[in-house]
Amino acid sequence: MICRKVVYRNFRNLEEAELIPSEGVTVLNGENGQGKTNTLEGIFVFAGGRSFRTLHESELVRFGAPFSEISMTYFDGKRDCLMSLKWIPESGKRICKKNGVFLTKLSEVVGNFRAVLFCPEHLSLVKDGPAVRRRFLDTAISQIDPLYLKVLQLYSRLLAQRNALIRLSREKHDDSIFLSQAEIWSERLAKEAALLSEKRSVYVEKLNVLVSSLLSDMTGGKESASLSYTSYKTEEEYFKLLTSNTERELKFGTTLYGIHKDDIKIEHCGKEARAFASQGQQRSLALAMKLAEGEISKEKDGEYPVFLFDDILSELDSGRREYLLHGISGRQVIITSCEKISTKAKLYFVRGGKLSAAE
Ligand code: ATP
Ligand code: MG
Repeated sequence: MICRKVVYRNFRNLEEAELIPSEGVTVLNGENGQGKTNTLEGIFVFAGGRSFRTLHESELVRFGAPFSEISMTYFDGKRDCLMSLKWIPESGKRICKKNGVFLTKLSEVVGNFRAVLFCPEHLSLVKDGPAVRRRFLDTAISQIDPLYLKVLQLYSRLLAQRNALIRLSREKHDDSIFLSQAEIWSERLAKEAALLSEKRSVYVEKLNVLVSSLLSDMTGGKESASLSYTSYKTEEEYFKLLTSNTERELKFGTTLYGIHKDDIKIEHCGKEARAFASQGQQRSLALAMKLAEGEISKEKDGEYPVFLFDDILSELDSGRREYLLHGISGRQVIITSCEKISTKAKLYFVRGGKLSAAE
């Protein structure tokens, strides 16, 4: 996967800008608040179908502008493709096209262009609570499996509806509102939960093998890791949990079982990484997870995704920085940095929402 060219119009602070990355490493260099992350965000939206920074798409439109548009030409391993995304805040519309054909659903947008984003918040992938790890799985699996995203969206809707019923019961002090419908909603939720759980389980198994070997590589064989998805359940198991705990759910006011409660268990040298691994060791693990995400993405069609590193190098010590830059040779990488990085990379300066390639 090669990102050949991106054209921005009214995207955040980029009024009009053009980026032509090299097929190897490209560095976006500039001071704080100039538009480096915005530039990467504009590439990532094609992979994730939405921003990694906000769920409110109107924020992507440059202040005061009537619309925002980005177009990207990329090579998918077989041919050059042209994708464009346009947001019109007044009508609340988002228009996506690939090679002239409209893509209306998010699940049609995601899965065309693939990218692995690595930003400072991912460095706490191991340390933080389970929500970041669930988001990691969702973003990674959606890009290689369109069905996953479709089912995940359906699951979120069913969950919101089931939760709304629980809340209504509490507000009206009438348990029967929820209890009379609990079985039907639990049945539907359990079906989708099991499908997603199965897919997460398969993904984490792959991740486990890759992360173990990457971490061992990174530390000269000194450190080991194991990742497991301990939340796996069948449809029957989910259904049983959901239907036999309705009283508790009414007490807590929310659905207590399902894939929205999942986690990945991560061990470092045989002990729980969150509790026992040092900050540096946790960061190495996070790094290995991100590189592994790229390897699994490549399995889809033999093409590496594009790696987008936002402000990550300054957070890493020289050993890990070297490993990262060395470990990703042969792939396209776009890096943002406030500091000058001495590489043979193609260099762009980012200043006040303008991109200029260094001579
Ligand atoms: P840092 O090094 O601090 O991470 P950066 O170069 O990555 O900085 P960005 O996050 O890309 O900076 O943001 C640059 C600027 O874009 C910010 O000053 C912000 O105010 C501005 N900005 C964000 N959204 C919009 C918008 N919709 N319209 C205009 N400007 C915006
Ligand atoms: Mg930034």
